[in-house]
Amino acid sequence: MDAARAIARVLRGAGHEVWLVGGCVRDQFLGRRLSDIDLTTSATPVELLRLFPGSDSVGAHFGVVLVNQGGGSIEVATYRSESSYADGRHPGKVRFETDVRRDLARRDFTINALLADPFTGEVVDYVGGRADLDARLIRAIGEPAERFAEDHLRLLRAVRFAARLGFEIEPATLAAIQRLAPEIVRISTERVRDELTRMLTEGGARRAFELLDATGLLAVLLPEVHSMHGIEQPANFHPEGDVWVHTLGLLERLEQPSVVLALAALLHDVGKPPTQTFEDRIRFSGHEEVGARLTREILTRLKYPNDVIDEVAALVRQHMMFKDAPQMGESRFRRFVRQPGLETLLDLHRLDLLAADRPLDSHEFVRRRRDAIPPEQLRPAPLATGDDLIALGARPGPRFGAILHQLEDEQLEGRIVTRAEALEFLKRAWAQSST
Ligand code: ATP
Ligand code: MG
Repeated sequence: MDAARAIARVLRGAGHEVWLVGGCVRDQFLGRRLSDIDLTTSATPVELLRLFPGSDSVGAHFGVVLVNQGGGSIEVATYRSESSYADGRHPGKVRFETDVRRDLARRDFTINALLADPFTGEVVDYVGGRADLDARLIRAIGEPAERFAEDHLRLLRAVRFAARLGFEIEPATLAAIQRLAPEIVRISTERVRDELTRMLTEGGARRAFELLDATGLLAVLLPEVHSMHGIEQPANFHPEGDVWVHTLGLLERLEQPSVVLALAALLHDVGKPPTQTFEDRIRFSGHEEVGARLTREILTRLKYPNDVIDEVAALVRQHMMFKDAPQMGESRFRRFVRQPGLETLLDLHRLDLLAADRPLDSHEFVRRRRDAIPPEQLRPAPLATGDDLIALGARPGPRFGAILHQLEDEQLEGRIVTRAEALEFLKRAWAQSST
């Protein structure tokens, strides 16, 4: 705020208007932590660059200058109006304005268009944002359908703000979102992905997905998740209800999650709709494998980075492993718990149990059994290596790796403890595999 005031002082000194605007004014009202500060001014980009030499002018042609101040940078935007959004994504024309009200008219929701004086904090409200903050409403500025048609990303922004702040969407605004939901496909995948990530990780994820569902956006963007509706489950394992209700239960319990955990919570049972069968009871055989494949498809389609896709798919594929943990031998168990993603897998399992109203026994069992193993025994130094196999006359190939893997199993099981035993094992195993 000090940096914003320093910038505002220079602008006022040069005879320009300047206001705090957008998220920072809204969040201050709500007593929420400020994310970033935005200033809006009557000064043009050319004037801004003259007053603040060394600023980042990348966005200057559409009216935004990043002013460096106090070790950080603050976005200072020239009053502007926008028009002719032919593509539903970008304004065709940007015009710099001298009246701040023209700038407010291009903004999305009333609660995002409050102005505050940077020095006195006095709030100026031209759009009814105060009343909507009090009533906890997300309301489009102006004619909702027009505003969503200009920029379809606003469809998702409405949902995100409503969910994160715990607000309702005003009825006419909601009706417009429902009507225009199919248009969301025209927005770039990257922008959709970033909105979804923010909905999943910034609080209110359950509400966000309920609203995506109620607006029709879910069916368009994530049909595989939408089809969880009405997929009944055995009542003894899932007293809470169908797969959709269960999934919402996980989303509800996310607390500042990583994007990987949040996506895994959303997608862990995505393999259930296509695998449901009615035999002795309702079954979902192999749903974790099918789910991991669908997870890859969905996250690839949404252009998530490959490392995120790999990690989420691995979590989905393994989310049922906990029920086998008590029967696992030492080698299998140790390989299971030494994988890098184990902590996240434990977190996912905990959410899965809580959302099904089940005790945490299987979660705690794995933790306890893992904690009882000294770290050096999880990944013991090898007693023998490929070099030893070669010295025994073996030649590298597919059998080679399998034998070394078996040797490590023996070591993890505690059946082989000395190097002499290891070499003896290798000799025998190689001879056997050669015949
Ligand atoms: P947060 O940063 O906490 O998500 P914010 O309100 O600061 O919330 P930003 O995306 O940083 O949101 O945008 C700053 C302001 O710019 C908004 O408050 C809004 O007035 C305006 N704005 C941003 N994106 C759009 C858009 N797609 N359509 C119309 N106005 C927008
Ligand atoms: Mg912001």
